[in-house]
Amino acid sequence: MRHFLDHAATSPMRQVAVDAWVEHAGMLNPGGQYGSGRAARRVLDDAREEIAALLGADPVEVIFTASGTEADNLAVTGLYRASPLGRVVSTPVEHPAVLEPVKALGRTGASVDLLPVGADGRVSDLSALDEPAAVACCMWANNETGALQPVDLVVTRAAAAGTPVHVDAVQVVGHRAVDFHALGATTLAASAHKFGGPRSGGLLLARRSPAPAPVLHGGGQERGIRPGTLDVATAAATAAALREAVAEMAAEEQRLAALRDRLRAGILDRVDDVVVHSPETDVLAGHLHVSFPGAEGDSLIMLLDAAGIEASTGSACASGVNRASHVLLAMGVDEATTRGAVRFTLGRTSTEDDVDAVLAVIGETVARARLAGMAG
Ligand code: PLP
Repeated sequence: MRHFLDHAATSPMRQVAVDAWVEHAGMLNPGGQYGSGRAARRVLDDAREEIAALLGADPVEVIFTASGTEADNLAVTGLYRASPLGRVVSTPVEHPAVLEPVKALGRTGASVDLLPVGADGRVSDLSALDEPAAVACCMWANNETGALQPVDLVVTRAAAAGTPVHVDAVQVVGHRAVDFHALGATTLAASAHKFGGPRSGGLLLARRSPAPAPVLHGGGQERGIRPGTLDVATAAATAAALREAVAEMAAEEQRLAALRDRLRAGILDRVDDVVVHSPETDVLAGHLHVSFPGAEGDSLIMLLDAAGIEASTGSACASGVNRASHVLLAMGVDEATTRGAVRFTLGRTSTEDDVDAVLAVIGETVARARLAGMAG
C-alpha cells in the first residue's frame, strides 16, 4: 500500500475532472466559425465563467495557459515588457517559475530588488515597494513551507507607487478563498493539478489594464495575451475540479490541519533534534516541512519510499542533484540543516492511515539516514 504525502507537488485528479475531461475530449477548435467550433466555444465560455465566478474575477480576465509555470512567466515577463520602467521587485522565496524569469530579466538589464524575509519565510520589510517598478511579485503561499504571505499589504503598498503586482497563488487556489478583485492584484497565477484538475492546465487572471505583453506570438486567442488553440477538455476539467475544491475547502482545511498537527506532534515525539520549517499560524493546512539535521534529504526520501511513503525534499532538483533549498537559505537556515529537509504535504486523499504509516517508520528511518549521513 502506498501513502502519498506529496500533494503540494501534484494531487490526484478528481473524478469530476476526469468525467468533464472525457466528456469533452472530442471537441474541436473553439475558434472555429462553424457548428463544432461554436459547440467547443460554449464549453470553453462556460468553464471561463465558472472559474471567474469562483475566483472573484470577470470572465474576460481569465487567461488559460498550459501550466502554472507558464502563467507565472507570462505575468512577470509580460508586465515587465508592458512597462517603461526597468525595475522588478520580488521575494527570494518565490517558486522558480517566478524567480527564474525575474533573474532572466536581471540578466538583460533590469534592476532587481528582493524583499527581505524573516525566519518564518514571510516578507519582513516592504520599503522596496515604495519606489515604482514595472512589476512586483509576491507568492501567496510558499510551496515548501506553506507559509502565507501578507499579499494584501504588498498590493496596497505597491499600488501607492503605481506598481502592478503579480501574485503566484498556485498553492492557494482551491485551498483557500481567493477573491481577485478584492485582493486588487494585477495578475494571479493558478495551476489545475494542485487542486485535483488535470496537469498542464494553468490559469492567469489578468486585469484589463495594465495587461501583460504577450510572450508567445501567434493568433489572437486569450485577448492576444496567450495565443494558441486551447484544449477545451482541460478547461472544462479545470472548472469542474475548482468547483468541487472550493465547495469542500472549509471542511478540508479543518480536517487536514488536524492530520498535520498529529503528524507534527508524532514526529517530534519520535525523533530528537527536528527543525520545523512550516509556521504554526498563517500557513496552509496540509504542509509540514521539517529538517532532520545529520541526515540527507535524498536518503530520507529513498528510505521512506522503500517503506511505501511518498514525500519529497520540497526543493527543486536540478539534474538529479539535490540542492540546498533557496527558500530555507533565505529564511536563515544553515546549509547543513537544509540538507536534511523533508516536505510532507497532505491533501484530499490523505487519511489517518497515512499519518500512522509515517509515524510507524520515521524514528528508524531518520536513525538510518543519520548513520548514512555520518558515514558519507
Ligand atoms: N508556483 C508554485 C508556488 C508552485 O508550487 C508550482 C508547482 O510546483 C508552480 C508555480 C508551477 O506550476 P506548474 O507545475 O503548473 O507549472
